[in-house]
Amino acid sequence: MELAKAVSDPRQLLQLLGLEQAGIVLRASIRHFPLRVPRGYVARMRPGDPADPLLRQVLPLDVEDQSSPGFGQDPVGDLAALASPGVLHKYQGRALVLTTGACAIHCRYCFRRHFPYAEAQERDADWATVLDYLANDESIEEVILSGGDPLALSDKRLAALSAGLDRITHLQRLRIHTRLPIVLPERVDAALLAWLGATRLKPVMVLHANHAQEFDTRVDAALVLLREAGVCLLNQSVLLRGVNDSVAALRALSERLFAAGVLPYYLHLLDRVQGAAHFDVHAARARALLLELATQLPGYLLPRLVREQAGAAAKQLVNLN
Ligand SMILES: *Cc1c(COP(=O)(O)O)cnc(C)c1O
Ligand code: SF4
Repeated sequence: MELAKAVSDPRQLLQLLGLEQAGIVLRASIRHFPLRVPRGYVARMRPGDPADPLLRQVLPLDVEDQSSPGFGQDPVGDLAALASPGVLHKYQGRALVLTTGACAIHCRYCFRRHFPYAEAQERDADWATVLDYLANDESIEEVILSGGDPLALSDKRLAALSAGLDRITHLQRLRIHTRLPIVLPERVDAALLAWLGATRLKPVMVLHANHAQEFDTRVDAALVLLREAGVCLLNQSVLLRGVNDSVAALRALSERLFAAGVLPYYLHLLDRVQGAAHFDVHAARARALLLELATQLPGYLLPRLVREQAGAAAKQLVNLN
């Protein structure tokens, strides 16, 4: 499948983009959290541009190995929030299922880049442990499939999970957090639409796009299919230095999302994970960007600026004033 055709050699990626001579200093060892990027995503990068916003999201740079004070291994307190194997239950009414550690793309800013999935992950083929936990807590109305990327799993596994969730009567919504329709739109196929269209639960998909350039006609077509299947489409982004930290980039992203039938939901301040410090945008600058953005966009295209705080009862809204 397409996943197998991902580029995993940084030198090859630079070659494909004509950047071998650009003086980019790569990370010395990529054994841990190596490069992974689908060919179709590479095709959306601008050849010859070392500052390309898509390239920056995936290229393992030497600066990742500098240690930065305040940047840790588990910045959002996920290990402490594991309620049961494979389930994070931090917020009232919503439980998050770590379905897999796999992703179609490796994003260098990812806050889970050090997370010990092998230990935390659901391992039962029939999802029994996860389903038991959800069934035993009637306060849970919404299940969030996360990972990794839940759509990295096979539709057979996902259909089994979805069918199990359908039978838990207090559940009302099924939310899927995924980057796959953006980075590998071919993933939105008949088998995916079949189980997604069949669930009794109200489906919500939160896409993770960070830049307008990530969209093309194949992405648009995949999103049409999801909308036609009755899925409510939202997007969350991370504010990333050198990728989308300008009013022009954020405005273009919101407008491109809306054109594709998606509403902006959250814009996250970077989670302070070791290896991602070079993407950090200071909160004061983030606020200034959002205040300016608010003067240029209708209110419904303005994402909520949030940060995740370990131990807090909700995502923290960053006050703009
Ligand atoms: C972010 C997150 C959610 C969802 O929060 P919303 O504000 O509803 O988007 C739920 N559970 C966990 C563990 C989370 O990290
Ligand atoms: S797709 Fe999501 S979970 Fe996977 S590496 Fe990227 S940000 Fe992390």
